[in-house]
Amino acid sequence: MPADLHLSTDVSLAAFNTFRIPARAKRYLRVTDPAQLQAVAADPALAALPRLVLGGGSNLLIARAEVDALVLHMALAGKEIVGETADAILVRASAGENWHAFVEWTLAQGLGGLENMALIPGTVGASPIQNIGAYGAEVKDRFHALTVFDFADGAIRVMDAAACRFGYRDSVFKHAAGSTLVVLDVTFALPRAWTPNLRYAELAQAVAGIAAPGARDVADAVIAIRRRKLPDPAEIGNAGSFFKNPVVTREHCARLLDTWPDLVHHAQPDGSEKLAAGWLIDRCGWKGKSLGRAGVYPKQALVLVNNGGATGEEIMALARAIQADVEARFGVRLEPEPVMV
Ligand SMILES: Cc1cc2nc3c(=O)[nH]c(=O)nc-3n(C[C@H](O)[C@H](O)[C@H](O)COP(=O)(O)OP(=O)(O)OC[C@H]3O[C@@H](n4cnc5c(N)ncnc54)[C@H](O)[C@@H]3O)c2cc1C
Repeated sequence: MPADLHLSTDVSLAAFNTFRIPARAKRYLRVTDPAQLQAVAADPALAALPRLVLGGGSNLLIARAEVDALVLHMALAGKEIVGETADAILVRASAGENWHAFVEWTLAQGLGGLENMALIPGTVGASPIQNIGAYGAEVKDRFHALTVFDFADGAIRVMDAAACRFGYRDSVFKHAAGSTLVVLDVTFALPRAWTPNLRYAELAQAVAGIAAPGARDVADAVIAIRRRKLPDPAEIGNAGSFFKNPVVTREHCARLLDTWPDLVHHAQPDGSEKLAAGWLIDRCGWKGKSLGRAGVYPKQALVLVNNGGATGEEIMALARAIQADVEARFGVRLEPEPVMV
């Protein structure tokens, strides 16, 4: 094993996942230089181990007390303006940068474009993995390119948006074809001619009193709304929305509306309907309820919380009970958003 890798064993991950699950990593490497990944790939014993790439741990649920994998904790640092195109400024940040701090930094440079996604926890490197989004904006809207290290062949290469295959909370990185890739940095194209994205009614309302809201005003409004609605992981363990909003056919939606006229649904460009998972969970009576030490956040039924000392298995048991109820009542299968480890 290369001595200069600084590999640790039996490391607590409690502080590295926002659910605060007290799991331990059998092997742990804090990655501050891409050369460390090359060294891992070049070492046959290390390269053969299962891997868990870890960013801020805000979108995963560790189900076991011990993670029997090599945990690669992404701590690559740095952000800069790297160029421009006819209509955008290109900014790049390394994978280990905190996402919200990066959004704040772009705003401080006078660059708008990411403000609707302010205060999303986690790292820049994880932002393309599930194509993070909030308040009517998604990473793919501002994405330019990213750099990956590929464990399959040890190469470092650049991927454009088409290669990333972005979808709703989805990308190639969540599928077999992307499973050997580690994101090293991400470049965003921020528009020269910025206009506010106020498609989301609650956000439009929040800035309605400002004559010509700028990107900073929109970010402040987003931050205020999020602080009001979502639990702070520093205070109560959670991973944000626990389920994706399910997409059903127009016919299925119409049948549900016959029984539930107040069903929250949004027509999609392809004719399907996206349902509000939080509404479905709420209607099954789960809001504010607990199962063991795992609970449903009283202010937002889509968020599962660790009420203190919950294991990953307890959170999973609650998730399964909710899935069963929603499926029995609405014929809709809820899919978890966090990655299960
Ligand atoms: C309170 C709260 C609110 C949230 N709100 C939102 C929201 O509004 N919108 C939204 O989309 N998400 C939201 N999330 C989820 C989460 O913040 C995002 O998914 C975020 O991008 C996860 O980043 P992370 O660094 O914590 O990733 P982690 O949880 O560490 O990892 C998530 C996945 O990405 C992989 N990964 C991480 N880094 C890399 C890398 N460099 N290369 C390859 N793979 C990598 C991991 O292996 C894992 O599969 C919220 C979470 C919380 C706790």
